[in-house]
Amino acid sequence: MENSYKKLIKGYLEFKQNSALKKDFYAHLHLGQNPQVFIISCCDSRVVPNIIMKAEPGEIFITRNIAALVPPYDEKHTSCHATSAAVEYAIKHLKVKHIVIMGHTKCGGIEALVKSGHITKHKTDFIDKWTDIAKPALEATLHNCTDKNFEEKCTYCEKESLKTSLNNLFTFPFVKKAVDDGKLKLHAMLF
Ligand SMILES: [Zn+2]
Repeated sequence: MENSYKKLIKGYLEFKQNSALKKDFYAHLHLGQNPQVFIISCCDSRVVPNIIMKAEPGEIFITRNIAALVPPYDEKHTSCHATSAAVEYAIKHLKVKHIVIMGHTKCGGIEALVKSGHITKHKTDFIDKWTDIAKPALEATLHNCTDKNFEEKCTYCEKESLKTSLNNLFTFPFVKKAVDDGKLKLHAMLF
């Protein structure tokens, strides 16, 4: 673990050295960001949108959370919603043209949800409540995959959870308006 941390610090120092050679590029980024694409992906260390999409700094606005989920719009604004705040910023301030929800196979968050087979028992402080967002996906999985094995159920649920998150995105009034006005397109992909 310590070696991994030292490796990252070394990488950061090398990055600083190399970026000094690209002064113009980074001077341009210093002026501000204008990404056209917003990606919502999982925290999983193997899912790195910039590498997967071959994107440069400044190209993608990104938020990551457990299982790449989007919660429904919270009309009462009662909780701290990091993902919802990112959606609001991306639409209202950055005026991105595309939102991509990037799920992935072998997702630990989805696997835990399917393994539990239920959505009401909360054994963790935050994770179970968070993955409850994918409740409709779990229900569809339990209903449609009775003859499937665990791995197949997870794959099914990974895809269904993308639909749930897309539906939830539409519950944000400013997202719906941007889509209706033809200024925003929503996408889902499974990496
Ligand atoms: Zn994941």
